[in-house]
Amino acid sequence: MTEAPRPLGRRPLVAGNWKMNGLRKDLAEADKICAATAAGEAGDAEIVLCLPATLLAAAAASCEAAGVGLGGQHCHGAPAGPFTGDISAEMLKDAGATYVILGHSERRAGHNEGNASVREKSRAAFRAGLVAIVCVGETRAQREAGDAMAIVGSQLTGSIPGEATPETLVVAYEPVWAIGTGLTPTLKDIADMHRFIRERVEADIPGVGGSIRILYGGSVKPGNAADILSTPNVDGALVGGASLTAKDFMGVAGVFQDRRLAS
Ligand code: PEP
Repeated sequence: MTEAPRPLGRRPLVAGNWKMNGLRKDLAEADKICAATAAGEAGDAEIVLCLPATLLAAAAASCEAAGVGLGGQHCHGAPAGPFTGDISAEMLKDAGATYVILGHSERRAGHNEGNASVREKSRAAFRAGLVAIVCVGETRAQREAGDAMAIVGSQLTGSIPGEATPETLVVAYEPVWAIGTGLTPTLKDIADMHRFIRERVEADIPGVGGSIRILYGGSVKPGNAADILSTPNVDGALVGGASLTAKDFMGVAGVFQDRRLAS
């Protein structure tokens, strides 16, 4: 599949999602990712690490020095209050984050996060000055029933606030059945869904759809990254398992260095 010209402003983005993995000793891997990024190994791509909240403050200085963004993995809608165990967007920002993942399928399924809740949390992210990475994606059964686009479309319309801009919002298409399974959609299916997402966001928020960054997520690895990241309307990747080691993560992000060297 030939690479689509990328409009100015849609800087490639590779974000790592460490999920509930990582102790302080594991910051050595984050440091290696920072060093590799500072050395130009991700080319022109923006690199963001969405770490467990416990590691954000500890990682902030080295990430900032390397130009690597930091992100949280969810937030509450309120800025503060009696919400035991929760974390606000303002707290993430205070710890050094500039991004937050919202509506990840593991939270939609495991914490009953529906579209309205994701929309409220997106507004909280905007309020705190964080970029929201809003995740959408269908289950295997929904794809097999031919409902993938209808599901993703309703997630987009229900989860994204109308005031979102390309500066405050990133969409991540993550088919649920591809997360952590080693399975990926065909490149054509990825291209079709990413085009659909762009058109749907443009229909919902005129003027935004063409400029918004749309990431693909779900079993992105060094071995499949070049093909996936060359697919039209794929502006980067949200990487789970392969983000836990610098070797694998830079094996994905390194696609953008290879492109710069080739151009
Ligand atoms: C994710 O959970 O966001 C993800 C993409 O995971 P993995 O890369 O491990 O499939």
